[in-house]
Amino acid sequence: MTNFTGLDLAQPLLRAIAEEGYDTPTPIQAQAIPYLLEGQDLMGIAQTGTGKTAAFALPLLHRLSKSGGREDGRAPKRAARALILAPTRELAGQIYACIKTYSRHMGLRSAVVYGGVSIRGQITAMARGVDILVATPGRLLDLMNQNFVRLDWVETYILDEADRMLDMGFAPDVRRITAALPKQRQTAMFSATMANTVRGLAESLLNDPITVEVAPVATTVERIDQRVLFVPKAKKRALLAELLNGDDIGRVLVFTRTKHGADAVARHLERGGVQAGVIHGNKSQNHRERAIKGFSSGRMRVLVATDIAARGIDVDGVTHVINFDLPNEPDSYVHRIGRTGRAGAVGTAISFCDIEEKAYLRDIEKTIRQSVPVFEDHSFHCPVIASDPGTTRKKQDGRNGANSPRKGGNNRNRKPQWKRNNARKAA
Ligand code: AMP
Repeated sequence: MTNFTGLDLAQPLLRAIAEEGYDTPTPIQAQAIPYLLEGQDLMGIAQTGTGKTAAFALPLLHRLSKSGGREDGRAPKRAARALILAPTRELAGQIYACIKTYSRHMGLRSAVVYGGVSIRGQITAMARGVDILVATPGRLLDLMNQNFVRLDWVETYILDEADRMLDMGFAPDVRRITAALPKQRQTAMFSATMANTVRGLAESLLNDPITVEVAPVATTVERIDQRVLFVPKAKKRALLAELLNGDDIGRVLVFTRTKHGADAVARHLERGGVQAGVIHGNKSQNHRERAIKGFSSGRMRVLVATDIAARGIDVDGVTHVINFDLPNEPDSYVHRIGRTGRAGAVGTAISFCDIEEKAYLRDIEKTIRQSVPVFEDHSFHCPVIASDPGTTRKKQDGRNGANSPRKGGNNRNRKPQWKRNNARKAA
């Protein structure tokens, strides 16, 4: 498969894809699209940044445009022909934006519903019925319970970032939503990892699925220049301020483990004259949207975030990810650093590691199957922490290793074709 024409997609879709500048399908697209076009159920193991959104959106739009749907091809009032579930508002918003972009020549109706904003506009958007509904579970259930949305017309059901959905405790909501769907439907699930919980959900939702898997963790992280700086906790703020003064630092995402930590870091930066946005679970949706907008427009160079708040943020041109605290989940490390180095760009991830975090670092290195190079020549580097063996810690829930990278070692530094094309275009 060399380009999209070979994928046999509807002309209006091919036109929109060409306008987006895509000419080669990404590996997940090349693998998943043919099966999804045939109507098969599918389990896709792929991370953000691999082009997974288009992998499910393009065949979905193709099928919606070809099949007339039931009766006259339109969903009745309050109904949807396709449902895409996403764990966070940001991700739902981004999927919706992609659907709009790819379907711009198609005349399909779509809507997005998520919590944290007024429900009114969402009720209106659903009133006439839509072809595609993108939703987060909580708000969707609200709308269903109040009879503003009915799911008995859904032909295609997609769950994106199923692993996060489960991590965030949405399993009961997903079950309730699924129970309202027709049994006869196509279902696809995407997840960055195939943890046991995800496997269980897949078994309960998918019917004789095809599994496709791309971008093992190690290859995703390989394109990012990673470094770890051993530093005592008390010096982390000063180190961050110093790094932000560097010439090469452009747009920076700073991660903390806690909401309180995120606020404290942002306050510290502001005091030092660095404009920084902050997003975490306690911030209102308006605040989050403002912060992300300020960051993506370049008005604020730094955004401080917790893991969950940062899910689904798709801001181009993030030059650096700084792990102010190391995450205690190795998967989160991969998700975090994947915010830089997107669409073929070069990215840098610097992790601050104090003595108590050495066990986290060890788990991360095991998961990504590589050791993170130490930033030894930095003035804040602390050799005492570097040489300390650290404490060991218990594994949390057996998730480590669930997404162990597979094979593919011989292709290490080779950029995939779709990224080479992207880089050429950007130049
Ligand atoms: P995703 O993994 O869906 O978040 O996509 C990551 C990025 O890749 C997005 O910015 C997409 O616009 C971009 N993208 C998706 N498919 C392609 C493609 N075939 N060629 C070039 N860029 C793509």
